Amino acid sequence: MNDSVPSTWDKWDNISKIASDVTKGDVKAIDLVNESLRRIDLATEYNSIIATTAERAKQRAVMIDDSIKAGEKVGRLAGVPFIAKDNYLTFGAETTAASNILKGFSAPYQATVIERLEAEGAICVAKANLDAFAHGSSTENSDFFTTLNPHDKTRVPGGSSGGSGTATVLGLAPFALGTDTGGSIRLPASFCGAVGLKPTYGLTSRSGVVAMASSLDCMGPITTNVDDAALILDVIAGKDELDSTTIMRDKQSYTQLDSDLSGKVIGVVKEYMGEGLDSAVKSVIIKAINDLEAAGATIKEVSLLSLPLALAVYYIVCPAEISSNLSRYDGQRYGFSYEDAKNLEDSYESSRSIGFGAEAKRRIMIGTYVLSSGYYDAYYKKAQTVRTKLINEFNTAFESVDFLVGPTAPNVAFEIGKNNDDPLQMYLTDIMTVAANLVGIPAMSIPAGDVDGLPVGLQIMATSNNDRELLSIAKIYEEVRSI
Ligand code: GLN
Repeated sequence: MNDSVPSTWDKWDNISKIASDVTKGDVKAIDLVNESLRRIDLATEYNSIIATTAERAKQRAVMIDDSIKAGEKVGRLAGVPFIAKDNYLTFGAETTAASNILKGFSAPYQATVIERLEAEGAICVAKANLDAFAHGSSTENSDFFTTLNPHDKTRVPGGSSGGSGTATVLGLAPFALGTDTGGSIRLPASFCGAVGLKPTYGLTSRSGVVAMASSLDCMGPITTNVDDAALILDVIAGKDELDSTTIMRDKQSYTQLDSDLSGKVIGVVKEYMGEGLDSAVKSVIIKAINDLEAAGATIKEVSLLSLPLALAVYYIVCPAEISSNLSRYDGQRYGFSYEDAKNLEDSYESSRSIGFGAEAKRRIMIGTYVLSSGYYDAYYKKAQTVRTKLINEFNTAFESVDFLVGPTAPNVAFEIGKNNDDPLQMYLTDIMTVAANLVGIPAMSIPAGDVDGLPVGLQIMATSNNDRELLSIAKIYEEVRSI
């Protein structure tokens, strides 16, 4: 961590330790909330936070402290402050998804993930910045402001959950929530130096999270260590009647991790280690692979032939779903509405053209185009065919390996503004993360070292529903890594 981060701040304890201290009455929830809010206040220059939920957070903290005093049972996350990406519907502040079109929107209900965290006593203290509607890789697409990287204020934190990444690494709260549609939890984790977990598709509910691309959207935490990620997953995972795509959770706790790598086979993804990969990043990843081998794993190279097509497939499927999901923002029901409209059509048109930013418009246009008759077969259908091929190739690969590894991103955090005028270059940042979403498998980014002080993330992927196994290897790596 460089010296721009206040060095006087204590690191937060592990989440389970914080909760147990609160439960024992050794620490007060209200003090934790106040400390988190104080840090948020002191770190405003990083632009990681859109709004705090201070009043509600303090009320909840007092309630939890009172329950403890009264000898009542409190949850596994009692008094633990957290920050939610601002596309999670939450009480206590507006939910904007960092878009002008949702400015002023107060959620009528909360996301299932938020409800589950609160049921265990966690306290949401603030809403984190993101690329508007989670469209992006740097937070530069936020309609409000760009978040700064915690290690270098001239660089991006990654995106789209960049506010959550920076906030976690600065220590504004013990953890933050992100969303991952094509890498948006893993990329900021990699660029900021945090642990990012994208669970198996459907393991965490999408209910109450602003929809981006519904067949790809996954909810998960950004934390400072693997145990915390496992605990948060354990609290939020599982079937939800409000999201029909959710799946049954593992019966065993996600916090019960295996500590043995022997007999495990790790496949190094050939396509991620070649052209386009920064050579210094590559060295860090090779060192990480050597550490895993030294810890007892068998390493082999794996090639997935359709992988080079994944980015193209993603940037067809994703905008197609975005164009459909964003059609609900029409200025009539909620969010921004153009007041001087001459008639209904003008109201739709003006509300959307003023309310949406450039990237949302770009994706609506691309998505509408690839879905339009005449182009549907050439683009959307073809992309879905290749998506199925990718799923099959990953399934085949997982017949001979337990995990796949590679870098999370081809480079370290880039300078603010560097890719702004070049959407293709920006999209290339996602080249190593999108496949896990297209295939639906769980994937993590874990800090593996740095290049001149800028963090590098090791990406590990596992088969669907093997989230516990994924967390296990991540934890082993965390313990053996030679940084
Ligand atoms: N960077 C990718 C995109 O721009 C992924 C975004 C995400 O996961 N929300 O679409």
